[in-house]
Amino acid sequence: MDVELLTVGAELLLGFTLDRNATHMSRTLAARGVRVTRQVTVPDDVDAIAGAMADGLARADAVIVTGGLGPTPDDVTREAAAAVAGVPLELDEDALAQIRARFTALGRREMPETNAVQAMVPRGASVLPNRRGTAPGLWIETDRGLLVLLPGVPHEMRALLDAEVLPRLAEGGDAVIGSRTVRTTGIAESDLAGRLGDLGGTLGVATLAFLPGVEGVDLRLTAGPGRGDEVAAALERAHAVLRDAVGVLAYGEDEDDLAAVVLDMLRERGLQVAVAESCTGGLVGARLTAIDGASTVFAGGVTSYANASKVRDLDVPADLLEREGAVSEAVVRAMAAGARRRFATEVAVAVSGVAGPGGGTEEKPVGTVCLAAVVGDAARAVTRRFPGGRREIRERAAQAALDMVRRSLLDA
Ligand code: AMP
Ligand code: MG
Repeated sequence: MDVELLTVGAELLLGFTLDRNATHMSRTLAARGVRVTRQVTVPDDVDAIAGAMADGLARADAVIVTGGLGPTPDDVTREAAAAVAGVPLELDEDALAQIRARFTALGRREMPETNAVQAMVPRGASVLPNRRGTAPGLWIETDRGLLVLLPGVPHEMRALLDAEVLPRLAEGGDAVIGSRTVRTTGIAESDLAGRLGDLGGTLGVATLAFLPGVEGVDLRLTAGPGRGDEVAAALERAHAVLRDAVGVLAYGEDEDDLAAVVLDMLRERGLQVAVAESCTGGLVGARLTAIDGASTVFAGGVTSYANASKVRDLDVPADLLEREGAVSEAVVRAMAAGARRRFATEVAVAVSGVAGPGGGTEEKPVGTVCLAAVVGDAARAVTRRFPGGRREIRERAAQAALDMVRRSLLDA
């Protein structure tokens, strides 16, 4: 079954509200084998909504709409649906009784009369009861296809989707669309694509998407719609091929967090880690300590911003700082060594860079970040150039620092 999603609300188009309904519905429907072929957003305008509904039904089997079911005059999704279905709106006594009951349950003596409009239903539609709010959902089978109207409030929409919509859609079969993600870091999207070459035929029916972000490039495999076990088997085969091709650049799967991966690796090896952070100001430590169980593995860290602190707190030689500059491989090596000694750990990682927007030079432009990792006696340092603004450069640097620990442990 192909479905289009229509989210209604001027606030979405003005950019004040993030459209969380479309993302949630897309993910939930895919897991049930329902293909979402388009997402559309329109303002609270009868003609715009009706036009988008009609366009959607001309292409897909159904249109699921959220928003515009409130009690105020700007909520006009019901009118638009009635127009598209070619039927009048009629008062539904059961729906009205449910809305009244909701007000008395909340301790109000009576329902404000404005809410009665929420019980107006296109003739022939089924009412989907909303236990979390006043706007009931509507299931409207029209000559052109199926229209489903859901409230805009995200938690009300989600509850109705689970309780009323998915069971009705699932009556058609038990197909699923499945996805698996291989998470990579430390390589640009185009370089990764070049390295993977043409995997085409080897992935079977699964399709591959490159999804770059601050943490790296996620490689998402998608298969289906089809029977659950067949989709899972197809993904398993494609995943094995992909994982093999990506090799050491892959740090995890699906929702894996690199910090958790690194902590697990350290724990397996009985090692502790210390961090020395300049431009990341504690982000690496924050990533590690965000993970449950970090205390057995994370010894501590130093946010060492001023040169004087690098000398005082990490034993970086003053003349080295003078000679090489704070953003240099020699200095991050010394920072990592200092952190390792101060915290008495086997492993340490250090970061120093130019996060911008000021402070860049011709030799060390904004985005230049030096990283060092030590594992026992083995030390390594690199210089990277990250794109983006201050926030993105810092986040990329923290991820790169964690990956340096991972790669160092793999090689140790
Ligand atoms: P409505 O049903 O249009 O009256 O919307 C009720 C509330 O839900 C408003 O605060 C909207 O901003 C919010 N809302 C509506 N649609 C969405 C959406 N697609 N994503 C997130 N919030 C929404
Ligand atoms: Mg609205």
